[in-house]
Amino acid sequence: MTTGKRKAKATQESLHRIFTIPEAPESTLGLIEKEISENLAGFLGNHIVATEKPLTDIEQDFACSQIPEEPEFVSDHMHHLLDKLISQSVHTSSPSFIGHMTSALPYFILPLSKLMVGLNQNLVKIETSKAFTPLERQVLGMIHRLVYRDEEDFYQRWMHSANHSLGAFCSGGTVANLTALWVARNNLLKPDGDFKGIAREGLFKALKHYDCDGLAILVSERGHYSLKKSADVLGIGQESVIAIPTDEDNRIDCQLLRQKCRELTENNIKILSIVGVAGTTETGNIDPLNEMADIAGEYGCHFHVDAAWGGATLLSEKYRPLLNGIERADSVTIDAHKQMYVPMGAGLVVFKNPSSVTAIEHHAEYILRKGSKDLGSHTLEGSRPGMAMLVYASLHIISRPGYEMLINQGIEKAAYFAGIINQHPEFELISEPELCLLTYRYVPPGIQELLRNGSQEQQQEINGLLGKLTKFIQKRQRENGKSFVSRTRIEVSRYGGEKILVFRVVLANPLTSKEILHDILQEQTELAQESENFYPQLKAML
Ligand SMILES: *Cc1c(COP(=O)(O)O)cnc(C)c1O
Repeated sequence: MTTGKRKAKATQESLHRIFTIPEAPESTLGLIEKEISENLAGFLGNHIVATEKPLTDIEQDFACSQIPEEPEFVSDHMHHLLDKLISQSVHTSSPSFIGHMTSALPYFILPLSKLMVGLNQNLVKIETSKAFTPLERQVLGMIHRLVYRDEEDFYQRWMHSANHSLGAFCSGGTVANLTALWVARNNLLKPDGDFKGIAREGLFKALKHYDCDGLAILVSERGHYSLKKSADVLGIGQESVIAIPTDEDNRIDCQLLRQKCRELTENNIKILSIVGVAGTTETGNIDPLNEMADIAGEYGCHFHVDAAWGGATLLSEKYRPLLNGIERADSVTIDAHKQMYVPMGAGLVVFKNPSSVTAIEHHAEYILRKGSKDLGSHTLEGSRPGMAMLVYASLHIISRPGYEMLINQGIEKAAYFAGIINQHPEFELISEPELCLLTYRYVPPGIQELLRNGSQEQQQEINGLLGKLTKFIQKRQRENGKSFVSRTRIEVSRYGGEKILVFRVVLANPLTSKEILHDILQEQTELAQESENFYPQLKAML
């Protein structure tokens, strides 16, 4: 455009314009709006440059720390954004982007999000959200019912009750987990006689009053790092999160869990919560929730289930039984922005007992008055957007059976991918998929036999080289920009618990075809041979 010729000025009139007059349809922003409305995938495909540019180069475009003294015209600024930002963002909705939990969104989300922003409701209180508050309470009720399946009259009684809440809507799984553990902590160290409770008197006095030497959170070694952050924020320290080893299927070893509970109790440490993972972030496996609920019952402690990613599986009648026992949890985290195809910023935690949240209730004089139905009185976050509307709309537009199809399709696609990996002589499946997530790695021909029959020392050497090769392939594939898988390091019991670098894929995008999966393996096989160090070194071992 005419960058450099026209100059924008900050005047009363120009400021008034940006609040009152929309961008013209033929303006740059107007055209972008039209394009993304009509063909988002096409727009992203056209504007995101797929090939890798070093981050240090990109940083040069974001190097100035001064707030501009001169305003820009919207159109000029749009060109700037297209050039510097959008071109260098990540095409998360591409069907061959199968490396993370962030995937494609249904089309209706786009105009609905715009409407949500336009309405700009603040869910902290009714005065700034009105109908959005009952809507959010209903969404919490729906998810609560999905998890706990209570009777109709339970929901009629509690869903809109001022002094209760069936859960808390928040920005994501991290805050949801923190909220659950906050509730657990405050209920464990509750007011008692002269002691006014941990919420008012703090951890130091609480431990003294209850005459205990510490608190612990128990979760499998596959637990999400947000639990450690929570322990840190809650004042009990990251080392209070105790990682219990898993079996060969990445599920918590309940015998070791029970043993640890006994040991802690004998050492005068209180168990703040046992946390089950329903869909681990790295391998997608589900803990034995029923058995964990039994153990939590024996020790009378809070049982939380982190189903941030896997919780949406409850929408599938066919695969729901994989999460059996979840209905016995005191609290459950589910992220709508993972497998419910809602954009980021939508997590929630539901509580079995509608009174649980009174443990974290806060009031303020000008808002959140006692007895009000303001949602902000029991959420960690203050001002919050109307994201619940997007969950509400998705649940209506897609409906439970629609979600079931999406979920089942993902799980079955992962099983298919595992099948072709298993049949392929040059790939090794590392974790068998339970849901739509699996891990695997490339292994040059002949090396798998060597691994199977070699000594532990040989295995370690080979695994070390394979790790470097995996990293090489993963980086090259990302740089080439055609497809993307992620990588992680996990302990693998078949190699004596050694930590191994693996590819990780999440098959949630309904547009990811079987053909794409075959192509990804093909590309990885070819990339492996481009490795000038690790591939020949491995071959030389034969
Ligand atoms: C993603 C995830 C979280 C964290 O959720 P965010 O929305 O990223 O904050 C917690 N637990 C599990 C199991 C997850 O997969």
